[in-house]
Amino acid sequence: MIRCDRCSLPSAVHQRYSGLHLCPDHFTADVERKVRETLRTYRLFGRGGLVAVAMSGGKDSSALLYMLKKIFSPRRDIQLVAVLVDEGIDGYREQTLLSARSLADRLKIPHRTLHFSQEFATSTDSMAARTRAEAPCTYCGVLRKNLLNRAAREMGATALATGHNLDDEAQTVLLNYLRGDVERLFRLVPRTPKEGMVPRIKPLRRVPERELAIYAHLHGIYPQGHGSCPYVPWAMRLEIKEILNSLEAGHPGTKYALLRGFDKIQDLAGPGSFQMRQCGRCGEPTGQEVCQSCQLLERLGMGMGQRL
Ligand code: SF4
Repeated sequence: MIRCDRCSLPSAVHQRYSGLHLCPDHFTADVERKVRETLRTYRLFGRGGLVAVAMSGGKDSSALLYMLKKIFSPRRDIQLVAVLVDEGIDGYREQTLLSARSLADRLKIPHRTLHFSQEFATSTDSMAARTRAEAPCTYCGVLRKNLLNRAAREMGATALATGHNLDDEAQTVLLNYLRGDVERLFRLVPRTPKEGMVPRIKPLRRVPERELAIYAHLHGIYPQGHGSCPYVPWAMRLEIKEILNSLEAGHPGTKYALLRGFDKIQDLAGPGSFQMRQCGRCGEPTGQEVCQSCQLLERLGMGMGQRL
């Protein structure tokens, strides 16, 4: 039997990148340490505030809500609110939203659900049907980000926390390198406050996806069997994910190295000259004359003006 490297109990998890074998308690402590350390780097919580937590009901955002509740419970000056987005993905999203609401209720955290159908008069399913040549994630992700920021701002949130894990972050870095999209790359973790944008934080960005799944399972916070979004196979991200997983299998620590390298480049580059302005159509903050959401909706023959 393999024993935990921190105590004599049986090991439950082997971290190949660190070489450590950990029992459930020491594994939990290790994951939560990484999250606390990441939260400290944002320097946002000195004076308390309201943290809006973007929730899909999947294992990552569920683990995020659970950990933030645990970490911030002793702080009476910090409140949490869960923000759920219903993009309109038939046969998939209903289940994950139920799961998200039930976890938020269990943790006694207020929650609010926003619907693409009410805000944009469309759904990811209908956008996918109209744009067969394009991965629906292009639309879905941009509109969701827009909606989350708007909702968090209207609630007066100090920060908007998302459940992006190490795998997501490493994939995004590689994806944007491959697409040559430097601007998007540098917007990954904004270093300076932008008007109209609630500061985005990613407390899980140093925790591998596999470890979040184990953490969620160990703490009984994610009912199994939701499957994944039906549009995942359409996305280039899936190919990147497979490439990175294969690199990680042969060279443990690759994902951490990719993220560390990107963080160093970002530090060297400084805050950059990216200026925010108001979208000429909907008034939301953007780096361009017309925000990406309005551009995408226009391509579909719709507009923010059609918001109900
Ligand atoms: Fe939307 Fe793509 Fe995520 Fe599905 S995988 S919820 S289509 S961004």
